[in-house]
Amino acid sequence: MKKDKSLKKIGVITSGGDSPGMNACIRAIVNTAWQDGIEVVGFRHGYRGIVEDFVQPLHPDDMRLVSQRGGTFLKSARYPEFREDDVAKAAAKNLTKHNVDGLIVIGGDGSFRGAYHLEKFWDGKIIGLPGTIDNDLAGTDTTIGFSTAVDTAMEAIDKVRETAEAMARVFIIEVMGRHAGFIGLHAAIASAAEAMIVPEMEPQPNLSELADNIIQARTAFPDSSYIVVLSENLWPGGVHGLAENLGKSTGVTCHACPLGHIQRGGRPNAQDRILAMQLGNAAVNAMLLGSHNVMIGLENEHVVEVPLNLTFERDKPLDQRLVDLQLSLQGVNIASKEANKTS
Ligand code: ADP
Repeated sequence: MKKDKSLKKIGVITSGGDSPGMNACIRAIVNTAWQDGIEVVGFRHGYRGIVEDFVQPLHPDDMRLVSQRGGTFLKSARYPEFREDDVAKAAAKNLTKHNVDGLIVIGGDGSFRGAYHLEKFWDGKIIGLPGTIDNDLAGTDTTIGFSTAVDTAMEAIDKVRETAEAMARVFIIEVMGRHAGFIGLHAAIASAAEAMIVPEMEPQPNLSELADNIIQARTAFPDSSYIVVLSENLWPGGVHGLAENLGKSTGVTCHACPLGHIQRGGRPNAQDRILAMQLGNAAVNAMLLGSHNVMIGLENEHVVEVPLNLTFERDKPLDQRLVDLQLSLQGVNIASKEANKTS
């Protein structure tokens, strides 16, 4: 296929929740575009930067040392005003004023909704790249930042485990994920948690079941730690509410530990840097070949293009095999102790 010679200038934004690897992705976009003589400009602070003209020229010279840093040097923002037609029209006008022919949006489902909205008012090309720690975009196996966030959660839980084990304590650890359980599931498996509560579980574990498991574990191993991984936005009163309710039901003090924003920060791991650069490079090449209004993702280790709306209109299920794995492993040591007693 022939490259689109009319593509002279690409704009880039990072939007919504930042994620480790966004900087590596910008590097790949800038360096790939440069090889085809395409200029790249960033707009700082997501969609707000397009509307308010926070323009920053991007050149390969400036990209040498950005990949290893977390966050996004282009800054990100939540900008709810962008839902309004007039604001999106103002963005379209500014993109045209700056002679931008194509826009690459690195962000999550909200940012892709924004891109879909902008498309109604602007005739440039738009490509979305999945940048979110939550991994909640359909059409891609993984997203930029997810793997690092799971590593961060696992390392934090490992640390809690050491003090919990020393003091024989029960901890309820809340992880991020917005309304999806990817971080919860992966962190629970990796940290060998005794229990997991993620939004996709049907039925949801109830209080008496959770309390019974804690009591059984305390009886079998009175000297040991017990860790529950809980996804955010799930339990009434959050992690503190659950810890309090479990404390009352079991008579055992349950400690609440929300991991919070440390999960969003930190240097991207190798997997996220590689993914970010692969997708950034693919986005520029796809735009040169005429792709528009799509997300570039990774499925079965292959770069794929998915219509933007299908990334946020469809739910992305958890891998049931991993859910089964966690559920089958999490209570075994307690059950085995019971079996030893009766045999
Ligand atoms: P994420 O991209 O991480 O899911 P948000 O949901 O906060 O983060 O969305 C990022 C930004 O995308 C919003 O602050 C807003 O500027 C824009 N956006 C989100 N939803 C829409 C929408 N329905 N229409 C237009 N713009 C939107």
